[in-house]
Amino acid sequence: LFDFKIILGKNGVPVAENFRLEQSTIADTIQAGQVRVKTLYLSVDPYMRCRMNEDTGSDYLQPWQLSQVADGGGVGVVEESKHDNLAVGDFVTSFTWPWQTVAILDGSLLQKLVPQLVNGRLSYFLGAAGITGLTALLGVREKGHVAVGANQTMVVSGAAGACGSLAGQIGRLEGCSRVVGIAGTDEKCSILVQEMGFDAAINYKKGNVAEQLRELCPGGVDVYFDNVGGDISDTVISQMNQNSHIILCGQISQYNKDVPYPPPLPPDIEKIRKERNITRERFLVLNYMDKHQASVLQLCQWIQEGKLKVRETTVEGLANIGAAFQSMMSGGNIGKQIVSVSK
Ligand code: NAP
Repeated sequence: LFDFKIILGKNGVPVAENFRLEQSTIADTIQAGQVRVKTLYLSVDPYMRCRMNEDTGSDYLQPWQLSQVADGGGVGVVEESKHDNLAVGDFVTSFTWPWQTVAILDGSLLQKLVPQLVNGRLSYFLGAAGITGLTALLGVREKGHVAVGANQTMVVSGAAGACGSLAGQIGRLEGCSRVVGIAGTDEKCSILVQEMGFDAAINYKKGNVAEQLRELCPGGVDVYFDNVGGDISDTVISQMNQNSHIILCGQISQYNKDVPYPPPLPPDIEKIRKERNITRERFLVLNYMDKHQASVLQLCQWIQEGKLKVRETTVEGLANIGAAFQSMMSGGNIGKQIVSVSK
């Protein structure tokens, strides 16, 4: 068994050295209700940055403890079972999967997976057919006010990431007539347009974002799926229409700073928001658990029909999970960042 221990907390940019790989042993036998699982895939996500602080800044997130095994979304296969509903060979997932190659888990905390729903691509249950897809779909449906025939223009920041790449496609499927992405490289922008059906994409690291946005959204912005916050969002909000809507999904540009969540807008932008009656309600996917099952089925159907294009960036090996997390936080990923632990 290899596991991953947290060795640093508090402010600043996360680095691979915040994590330490250790070798240890697990019990030979499992208890009633438990299963032994082999880890197949682990997820690294922006919210984990908050779990590296003693005060995570949110009541629903527990901090990781120094020198304890980290955890997050994971998918694995049952290798031994003393749980009535789980058999050897079943594929299972959990939001609190330990970063270990092998683990003994309480079977009642695991959800059984149906690989056929994702054409056998089990890692999708950590992305497009998991929390990421749910965030995109429920964010658009609960906070976007998207309506077929309303001729709405949607802008997505963090557009080539896990949530963003799906959010733009879902905005289109739900009725937006124009979808524009903002992302950090030319390669990401061209994938958004050529593969994912975005009408246009802006590389925010090049040129003037405000000017490009004005050109690409001549009728203004009606729906803004905000993954990043900060300057990019201030620029988009300045070009939003009367009675338009921000889907406040995340604010990754602010996660290494000591600011409350959601961070307040600068006074001049807040003034625009109020004058134009732009909604900016907090959105948290975990608040819609009752809609998760039906929404996962919708996502899987779109994936199978080829209506939702999925991209993943995969890093091999548990030893590289700290580096994968750091890379995702600084834009190294296209689509969902996955760590493949074993085959
Ligand atoms: P992701 O977008 O796949 O990965 C993070 C991306 O953020 C990077 O690829 C990078 O792309 C971009 N980024 C990093 N620093 C940035 C900065 N300073 N300015 C602009 N972009 C920056 O991650 P994800 O899992 O899909 O998460 C996206 C957002 O959704 C995060 O804010 C996350 O917290 C949020 N989220 C919210 C919920 C919810 O329930 N509300 C659930 C899940 C995720 P570039 O190359 O484009 O910079």
